[in-house]
Amino acid sequence: MREKKIELAVIGGTGLYEIPGLNVIEKVFVDTPWGKPSDEIIIAEYETETKPVKMGFLPRHGRGHFLSPSEIPNKANLAALKMLGADEIISFSSVGSLKEEIAPGHFAIPNQIFDRTRQRDSTFYGSGVVVHVSFGDPFCSRFSDAIEKSFKKTDITFHTNETIICMEGPAFSTRAESKHYQSLGAGLINMSVLPEAKLARELEMCYQMVCMSTDYDSWRESHEAITVEEILRILKNNSEKATKLLKVFIEEYAKLPERDCACKDAVKYSIITAEASRPQNTREKLNKVLPGYF
Ligand SMILES: [Zn+2]
Repeated sequence: MREKKIELAVIGGTGLYEIPGLNVIEKVFVDTPWGKPSDEIIIAEYETETKPVKMGFLPRHGRGHFLSPSEIPNKANLAALKMLGADEIISFSSVGSLKEEIAPGHFAIPNQIFDRTRQRDSTFYGSGVVVHVSFGDPFCSRFSDAIEKSFKKTDITFHTNETIICMEGPAFSTRAESKHYQSLGAGLINMSVLPEAKLARELEMCYQMVCMSTDYDSWRESHEAITVEEILRILKNNSEKATKLLKVFIEEYAKLPERDCACKDAVKYSIITAEASRPQNTREKLNKVLPGYF
């Protein structure tokens, strides 16, 4: 049994590099078989009405934002959080809105993803061990229900049941692309939900992304150009709202019963490769994140 330094993981996106008011226990740099994560992970304990919650916070782009979406060491990030003991992740991301009603400053909980990335290493499996996890529902509904409940206890405007497009970037979409995504019925666009969500599933972690709308992507032909000042103001307000939501969510999280969702067995019954055919070095790597499986 691995030692659980944390149970809940929080991944911060653009604008969310720290969580003020945490009781920080230590900061750790975890070395994983897939390299080093984006930055050190802050381990903190949060007192709730139910029980203390041990959590780990990792800023996806590094503190100071030095990693572009295509450069994020996603496998190391997810492996590090899992190796610290986390089975559940709430992740935050600044996104563009593809719908008029999702205004800048609004939040959203997506329930579907459409992949438009092109150059990312998006699986822990291969190198002799083949695993096909289910990804029809890319987010954990048990977790998203708890987040929705938390939103309702705040004054933050939020949307649910949205599809998020994940594009490669770093340049934003063309107007033609943006309008095409709208025609698919998608409401949100970002550059970081994949492969993060997929890798979380591949490690049997419950995962839900919370989206913070900053702008209207490229589809909306506006008369005034949005200024950098305006974007920074929205990012700052959004990060304050994210912190507020997170504190309410941790209270909800502390009340959640043991995991009973499909995430917890996502890999167990999906290993295709016969035991005798699995190479030793691949098994050793994978056993670091899912002990006893390979
Ligand atoms: Zn789950």
